[in-house]
Amino acid sequence: MQLPREVIVGRGSVEFVGSICRSLGFTKSALIITGEVTFEVAGKAIKEQLEGEGLRVEKHVITSNMPSINDVKACEEKIRRFKPQVVLGVGGGAKIDIAKLSSANQGVPFISIPTTASHDGISSPFASIKGLGKPYSLMAQSPIAIIADTDIIGRAPYRFIASGCGDVIAKLTAVKDWKLAHERKNEYYAQYTASMSLMSAHHLVENSHLIRPNSEEGLRVLLESLISCGIAMAIAGSSRPCSGSEHLFSHALDLIAPKPALHGEQCGVGTIMMAYLHGLDWKRIVDYLRRVGAPTTAEEIGIEPKYIVEALVIAPRIRPERYTILHERPLSHEEALALAKETGVIG
Ligand SMILES: [Zn+2]
Repeated sequence: MQLPREVIVGRGSVEFVGSICRSLGFTKSALIITGEVTFEVAGKAIKEQLEGEGLRVEKHVITSNMPSINDVKACEEKIRRFKPQVVLGVGGGAKIDIAKLSSANQGVPFISIPTTASHDGISSPFASIKGLGKPYSLMAQSPIAIIADTDIIGRAPYRFIASGCGDVIAKLTAVKDWKLAHERKNEYYAQYTASMSLMSAHHLVENSHLIRPNSEEGLRVLLESLISCGIAMAIAGSSRPCSGSEHLFSHALDLIAPKPALHGEQCGVGTIMMAYLHGLDWKRIVDYLRRVGAPTTAEEIGIEPKYIVEALVIAPRIRPERYTILHERPLSHEEALALAKETGVIG
């Protein structure tokens, strides 16, 4: 199992990137993988700081918004040519995923420096890339360090924070699905990582009154939860503790909806419906999502009801091997519609 060695969360923590690189033995060269905006927001200062420490630093700017296999290949080519000691992913989820997978493929360590807190990919060993024939995440590598600067992340639109909350609340149904797979299919169930994942969700729920725009304290709680989810996945060697039927629903929307919403937003809405199927207190989940300002309906995520219904129907086929409540009780169109209406997802 591979775990991060340095995790820093807080105001101005990006200022420690130089000392962290030094302590990890990266004193010669680094490659920064970033986006156009995120380079201005954070990458540039990081580059100057590392150059000040005497490192040779190059940057690779990704211009597309959807991480594709071509972006990964281009980054790998850059890594092969430049041969950096370390790759720094500076950006939102997409840039982090590209940096994570390309560095893993080239056998170079990777540091995660997120500029948003929209999902747990900022800390997990998994990457979600389009064009690999799989709509879900694939094993890449754990970041050797995570530097989450709340000043920078707090400047991103609040919608990203609310999305991150949706990805954390999803663990309530993800762990239920895992337990179900253990009971029905004798799948290996790791109590420790399941507890870690649930603890992250409870930590967030208990502190949800802190989560609102411009709350550094709330953002810190969210980051702690997201990072411990990533570590739970690293220990499990699987996304199982953090990804169940609610994630399959979100992956299905990514495939069929003309304009999918953010990953965590979709997972949050999925969690409401999967909680209903699991017999959990789904109304509490709605309340919690509302409290943190996350969407709870099809309308709020800007997706037409017909895609919600279709996604519920096709979700179990996305990963037939990952047994969930949707595999136990596959939904017909009528049942899916009834579920979405009953839980208020469709008005
Ligand atoms: Zn997720």
